[in-house]
Amino acid sequence: MKSWFLRLRHGLLVLPLVSIGLIGLAGSPWAQPRPIQFDLFRSRIQDAVRTFGNHPRFKDIPPERREEIAEFVSGNMLFVLLHELAHTAVTELDLPVLGRREDAADSFAALTLIHIKSTFSDRVLTEAAKGWFMADRRDRKEGEPVVYYDEHGLNQQRAFQIVCYMVGADPIRFKDLAAETKLPKDRQESCAEDYRDAAKSWGMVLKPHLRAPDQPETKIDVVYGEASGRFEITAQMSRSIKLLEPVAARSAELVKWPAPFSLEMQTCGFVNARWVPATRTLTLCYELAADFVDLYREYGIKQAESRPRKSKRYGRAEARSAAQSQPPRP
Ligand SMILES: [Zn+2]
Repeated sequence: MKSWFLRLRHGLLVLPLVSIGLIGLAGSPWAQPRPIQFDLFRSRIQDAVRTFGNHPRFKDIPPERREEIAEFVSGNMLFVLLHELAHTAVTELDLPVLGRREDAADSFAALTLIHIKSTFSDRVLTEAAKGWFMADRRDRKEGEPVVYYDEHGLNQQRAFQIVCYMVGADPIRFKDLAAETKLPKDRQESCAEDYRDAAKSWGMVLKPHLRAPDQPETKIDVVYGEASGRFEITAQMSRSIKLLEPVAARSAELVKWPAPFSLEMQTCGFVNARWVPATRTLTLCYELAADFVDLYREYGIKQAESRPRKSKRYGRAEARSAAQSQPPRP
């Protein structure tokens, strides 16, 4: 069984007080998103597609689809990065976690992106939800057993919960997404509470750890490891897009971390992402990015082309959680 970003855990870019829950943070850095900085991802993705579009790995992908796939993969990798950063925050800052830690990590990633409020961050969230729906379709097709006892939610649950936070935060802005995913009206209404609870809780636990202007920033290293074979292009594109740098910079700016740590992309030998407290290393595996490419080719492009409007690009799904078959999580 393949697992992937199942265990994503994410982090925090911004917690603006778009909402109720974060009123107590007014005036804090969390209230000031940097959408412009974040939106540079989009132009870097476009540049990377132009630069690497003729690579053999893309040769059977129609040119008009190449940017889509790059955005899908980058968006899902960013969500995973933020999910893992949430795990980092919980262990490094010794934060309380009420409920399942994997659910908390997803909520952190979702809220961080929701609060950035940019076209690109909304797209990242949508791609992440789509990713889980596609993964669900893949698992079903491949006969993967449903692991009810897993520490992560089921794929569809994770997908719907992302949509739920989005709709709960702003039912107007995300109305079309709710309709497309067929999130029932009554659930859309209760999602407002899910969102408020998550926003208030993250705001409260992070507030004591926000960096004051006169405090030095903690060093957060960014490392792109070597890759070969089919992962080489993944590594090149990740470097070119600078997937890790903005998250490292923003995290160092906002939070007073107790010790330096590093964000890395590496060849792992398996499909996953993880935060390892012992080495203070958050690693996204190149294999995970490659798996997102495969997922999108099989369940994004092919499906869209073979069943143009039949349905729901968001049918069901969750990404296959990385955790299931992977090494024990930290
Ligand atoms: Zn996780």
